[in-house]
Amino acid sequence: MAQVAIVGGGLAGCDCAWQLAEAGTMVTLYEMKPDKHSEAHSEDGLAELVCSNSFRATGPSAAVGLLKEEMTALGSLIMEAAMATRVPAGGALAVDRTLFSEYITDKIENHALITVVRQEISSLDAEELQGADAVVIAAGPLASAELTESLMASVGDERLYFYDAIAPIISRDSVDFDKVFWGSRWKPEDDDYLNCPMSEEEYTAFVKALLEGEKVQPRDFEKEIHFEACLPVEAMAERGEMTLAFGPLKPVGFVDPKTGERPFAIVQLRTENVDKTSFNLVGFQTKLKYPEQKRIFRMIPGLENAEFLRLGSIHRNTYVNAPQVLDETLQLNAKPGYYLAGQITGVEGYLESAACGLWLGLSLSRRLHGKGLVELPPETALGALLSHLRTEPVKQFQPSNVNFGLMPGLQKKMKKKLRKEAYGVRAQEAFAEWLNAAELKDTEV
Ligand SMILES: Cc1cc2nc3c(=O)[nH]c(=O)nc-3n(C[C@H](O)[C@H](O)[C@H](O)COP(=O)(O)OP(=O)(O)OC[C@H]3O[C@@H](n4cnc5c(N)ncnc54)[C@H](O)[C@@H]3O)c2cc1C
Repeated sequence: MAQVAIVGGGLAGCDCAWQLAEAGTMVTLYEMKPDKHSEAHSEDGLAELVCSNSFRATGPSAAVGLLKEEMTALGSLIMEAAMATRVPAGGALAVDRTLFSEYITDKIENHALITVVRQEISSLDAEELQGADAVVIAAGPLASAELTESLMASVGDERLYFYDAIAPIISRDSVDFDKVFWGSRWKPEDDDYLNCPMSEEEYTAFVKALLEGEKVQPRDFEKEIHFEACLPVEAMAERGEMTLAFGPLKPVGFVDPKTGERPFAIVQLRTENVDKTSFNLVGFQTKLKYPEQKRIFRMIPGLENAEFLRLGSIHRNTYVNAPQVLDETLQLNAKPGYYLAGQITGVEGYLESAACGLWLGLSLSRRLHGKGLVELPPETALGALLSHLRTEPVKQFQPSNVNFGLMPGLQKKMKKKLRKEAYGVRAQEAFAEWLNAAELKDTEV
């Protein structure tokens, strides 16, 4: 019988273990708690939710709602536990975190093919991992220091990161094209960037709003994470009124085709996907609270009605440059037989981490049983999330939650509500078709 060792009994590790074991693979799951807790974990159970108790929106008009449907169809233990321990939260799926963790711990510990070992694994070459047919590292965004060092030695220190500095992403359809123009610095013909020109008055009001905006307070272990390369946009604004105009909002090399003049400042929007259906705000990593980001960034000319597909953040997060480090099966290029799952791959969020673990468990079990698995189309939520781990250009790789911007664009322009519905319908059809073709039921035990 095939045997897999998993390091980390969090959301990804548990859904991965469940898929493998349900398909007839023996799993040894190593979890360092209760001997050792990360800075954010405090309980002893598996699949601990370290912050919010929400798995966000439900329903097919949200990408994360579609992800829930797909995970449920694939037999996700995380989704099963979430539904069993659900608490009222309007249109969102929220859980009682204690019952949720207890449910999963019970299921995992009592599965005939899973052995849970409460022990830290400090190296990829640890003796305990030898002899397994495959090793899955699902140690999360706060993986223990020794294991992270070992992973870094394997992938190279320039391909493993400790912080997220995420800029917001907006949908193209929500940009006012009467106000913005294409072009990169000195290259007006370039169409990889959109530019939002600002007058002096607009710039001054914007800087004032950034300074006054409400910010998220960093946690104790996140206090010294600001370094020059990823200063929050509001921290830059604090350095002086013109700091942004001489930094990321520098207008040098741009002429606004509508006025024939150089704007006082410009905000650049960089293409986020091949279809150019979404853009990120260059240099706008931020600790502003989410509602403040929406309010303040909509002051940028052309973005008055911006639809935010992802909001900005800066936080402690261990993750790899997936497009450089992983192959399409989530295997480490540098260490065949070793796979990554969960947040450490560069997906972002509870559900995304679990989905990544689920997918790895499912696909790995198929391979270990000598069967292939048709790739999930990028029109599906899980397929889109996985395709993000292969994005180009790899130099700019940043973690992402699941959102419609990761999916291929729709051919037609339509209103926001209809567009979301169209993404939803297309995703459901693509997933149903894939599921039909995948013949998951015949995995041999
Ligand atoms: C402080 C913080 C707050 C967050 N809040 C949210 C939120 O509110 N909503 C959201 O959607 N996402 C949130 N995230 C992001 C992310 O979704 C969660 O961290 C999620 O739990 C990641 O799932 P995972 O399975 O990859 O890792 P985890 O759930 O963290 O699981 C990793 C497990 O591995 C264990 N482990 C680590 N190192 C070792 C080792 N060497 N040997 C053995 N075991 C080890 C850990 O103890 C842990 O149990 C947050 C992240 C952080 C850091």
